Amino acid sequence: MTDAVPQDPNAAAQKAALLDPSRPILVRQAHLVTLDDTLGDLEGDVLVKDGRIAAVGRELACDGAVVIDGTDKVVIPGFVNSHVHLWQTLIKGCAGDYSFGDYLHYILGAVGKYYEPEDVRVATQLGAIEQVDAGVTTVYDWAHIMNSPDHADAAIDGLQQSGVRAVFGHGTPGDDVGRWYYQSRERHPDDIVRIRKSRLSSNDALVTLGMSIRGPDFAGMEVNRADIELARSLGIMASMHLAVGMYGDYSPDTRTLAKAGLLGPDINLTHCNRLLDDEIALALDLGASISVTPEVEMQMGHGLPVTGRVQAAGGRITLGTDVVCSVSADMFSQMRFAVQAQRMLANAKAHEGGAMLDHLPIGARDALISATLQGAKALGLDHRIGSITPGKDADLTILSWAHERSSPLVNPVQAAVFHASVANVHTVMVAGRVRKFAHAAMQAEAGSIRRAAEMGHRVMAAAGIILPASLAA
Ligand SMILES: [Zn+2]
Repeated sequence: MTDAVPQDPNAAAQKAALLDPSRPILVRQAHLVTLDDTLGDLEGDVLVKDGRIAAVGRELACDGAVVIDGTDKVVIPGFVNSHVHLWQTLIKGCAGDYSFGDYLHYILGAVGKYYEPEDVRVATQLGAIEQVDAGVTTVYDWAHIMNSPDHADAAIDGLQQSGVRAVFGHGTPGDDVGRWYYQSRERHPDDIVRIRKSRLSSNDALVTLGMSIRGPDFAGMEVNRADIELARSLGIMASMHLAVGMYGDYSPDTRTLAKAGLLGPDINLTHCNRLLDDEIALALDLGASISVTPEVEMQMGHGLPVTGRVQAAGGRITLGTDVVCSVSADMFSQMRFAVQAQRMLANAKAHEGGAMLDHLPIGARDALISATLQGAKALGLDHRIGSITPGKDADLTILSWAHERSSPLVNPVQAAVFHASVANVHTVMVAGRVRKFAHAAMQAEAGSIRRAAEMGHRVMAAAGIILPASLAA
């Protein structure tokens, strides 16, 4: 028997060289799924210099480069997780069986008020490292736990300490659901202006600023207008949950937002399950992005994932993991849920007419694009990341089938989407900095896993969440 995670005997020395930012890196003879229209898929090399992709091609040479052997490996653009709540990393394991009502009651309505700033920092850092370990190089961290300015600073610290590329989506406090949700009349906290001026003033940094707003599901239209105008005045994107669940009569708020000039390429709409087809088309025409988080949407009754309806309207979804306290935190799972849920819907529709499908409506490559390049577009970052294109930042994920428990590598795209897991993630680079190598991710600060568990138990107990007796002491 071998170890579950095989170790390259030269990995330690190689890793030390890879961590030297002055050394170019040459990934040699790998299967490259570039998602670049000109380059396509090829077997070849990627040269990384000064944080950027310097060249893509065959038999590249570079003096002084550290070489990563690409044998039995697939290089993809790093995953872009366009919707995740990293602060919930502390309370994993409490909400996997929750209905949407349970979630609103215990998570948004109770647990958030017990989070101290340090809880937010530790959760965000650990959650971000978990993302990188799983091949994610960019996250939109939808942080609706901004109970004070210190909470916001702590979340930013956690992201910056993790090494991930992130849009920090500053949200509302998590300590008073009655005030901040349910047709709220409260405008977005103006602490975001301080953050824009003092901490995240650059749009070119590794961690940039976004605004996580409540949108029509949770706030009145005047608040929505003020929130989006505030985001635009700060020159940042905004994201909202939209059209979730089956709560009473449906009102077509998307048209209202569009008519008011409040939709555009700077706006991300997440879920959108209850939108009408023409509202989806309208949002896409105006350039808004649509994020689907299929696993939790199927769990909690958000409605049917809109993957196919977005595609029918000429668009493409982005993917996110969303509530990591409930569901998988990795993009492999979300790609598979998205693809197979859409196929299930299409198959069921064909069956209703007594027929079988000749062609499936969505493919592996669609899922991979949604999980990478389309997410980069949604975050306004596709000029820098999202494809393996010379000149872009080197955000790369290398998947390996080079150990004896792997199945043979026959089709790189299908392998990445249908047959890969976190165990296949060999190397992760963010802006050319190696954050995982030879299956070993960077470590969180010493003792943080134990601290996170204690923090999670504390906030869950305070919120009245029932823990197993062995853990509830
Ligand atoms: Zn969410």
